[in-house]
Amino acid sequence: MASRLTAVDDFDLVIFGATGDLARRKIFPALFRRHSAGHFPDGARIIGTARTPMDDSGFRADIAAAIAEFDPPRAGDPGLPAFLGRLFYVPVDATGAEGWADLAARMRKDVVQAFYLSVAPALFGDIADRLSGHGIAGSDARIVVEKPFGRDLASARALNRTLARHFTEGQIYRIDHYLGKETVQNLMAIRFANILFEPLWNAHYIDHVQITVAETVGVAGRAAYYDHAGAMRDMVQNHLMQLVCLIAMEPPWRFDPDAVRDEKLKVIRALEPVPESDIVRGQYAADGAGYRADVGNPASRTESFVALKLRLANWRWQGVPFYLRTGKCLAARTSEIAVVFRKPPHSIFDAEERQKPDQLVIRLQPNEGINLMVMIKEPGPGELRLVEVPLDMSFAEALGVDIPDAYERLITEVIRGDQTLFMRGDEVEAAWAWADPVIRAWEEGGAQPASYPPGTSGPDEALGLIGRDGRHWRNLQS
Ligand code: NAP
Repeated sequence: MASRLTAVDDFDLVIFGATGDLARRKIFPALFRRHSAGHFPDGARIIGTARTPMDDSGFRADIAAAIAEFDPPRAGDPGLPAFLGRLFYVPVDATGAEGWADLAARMRKDVVQAFYLSVAPALFGDIADRLSGHGIAGSDARIVVEKPFGRDLASARALNRTLARHFTEGQIYRIDHYLGKETVQNLMAIRFANILFEPLWNAHYIDHVQITVAETVGVAGRAAYYDHAGAMRDMVQNHLMQLVCLIAMEPPWRFDPDAVRDEKLKVIRALEPVPESDIVRGQYAADGAGYRADVGNPASRTESFVALKLRLANWRWQGVPFYLRTGKCLAARTSEIAVVFRKPPHSIFDAEERQKPDQLVIRLQPNEGINLMVMIKEPGPGELRLVEVPLDMSFAEALGVDIPDAYERLITEVIRGDQTLFMRGDEVEAAWAWADPVIRAWEEGGAQPASYPPGTSGPDEALGLIGRDGRHWRNLQS
């Protein structure tokens, strides 16, 4: 069954950084998949820009090569020539005068205009100034910006001010691709479109929440960036924070961009400061190899793993810990949220040790889906024995619907002008205001990260962080 499409209007989508890694690996393959799904109107055009000199046909050949490299099953798709026919290229130097008049001449004024800044954040200001100065961006134009949005509160504020020189908040789409995932949206549907969960969604019935984002790869290819950032900046302040928000937020008064983002902002503001005793930093290390060798910095203290315990200072979550962990070179590639409920107050069954707490497990990757782990009677004769079974609550597969990837969904939302799945400026600043002291305490202290062997679940200290509360991490499963 094909997924139902929400129509989008005619558009000119300009991709800055069209020759870069993100554009070739993610953005153009995603656009092609939406095109193949029949989602683009006849008046849809995509204009690539970068400094590299190229004409339209050279660019089309480059994007065909990118699709062959990064989405090989679709390289022979009969719809590819039609998609390539929608692509155009204008060489533009973000920091100079070259190309801007040509870009202005190519743009249409009577369609949706979107400008995707898939370039280093240092270029945002130059691009915004020139889009405005050359009269290219209309008053309804949308500006899409990629992570990282700053490396601390001061730089995030500066970026917000830079964009605000020419664009209103309603025009700015800050991408966190975790928000574009099917299950993340399904989490909101399950929480707020049903009566079943909300009465239990609080400290009376939830014991704790675990969020894990584990990668098997190291930092190869991103070493310079990563060693300057670390897991707190690269993952916790943005992706994991967004997941905490969606679990912990109050029901918004309606599914509307500002109503949703107002509630997420309140969660971030309710986060308590994290004492050093509630955070573990790690670095993968093996004999003669490991993180420090990968980044070429034998003295690096940058964390490739972090585990921390969060607390929220509000009524709903009083006393409920949120355990977060993320890292590189771990045993499995997996991203999941587990909401672990309390055990029943009294067990009528003899084998009480087999009674496990109910868990709602939201898997973001691999195999996106939602499972409710519940206890039932083990089928068969003999005494009544309990067994834990998963109730599969993700119906996309059952209905045979193709799930679009996060970039497909997010780009479509930009064209539709819906900001619900994008971070607002005050949200990003609040997240940095929380993360800054945690990061500063580490950078100013002299402690070394705990080392862990590649292919494990991280340093033993992370087991201790949750273990001392009488709890344990879920197994890393791929
Ligand atoms: P990249 O491979 O280095 O590409 C940078 C792009 O910017 C190239 O197309 C480059 O093309 C263009 N560019 C550089 N200077 C320019 C200038 N003065 N004027 C016009 N164009 C210029 O970087 P990337 O990995 O694609 O990342 C792009 C952005 O996405 C960054 O902000 C990054 O942090 C973010 N991001 C990337 C990933 C990823 O997986 N790659 C993931 C998340 C976020 P020319 O050299 O031809 O000008």
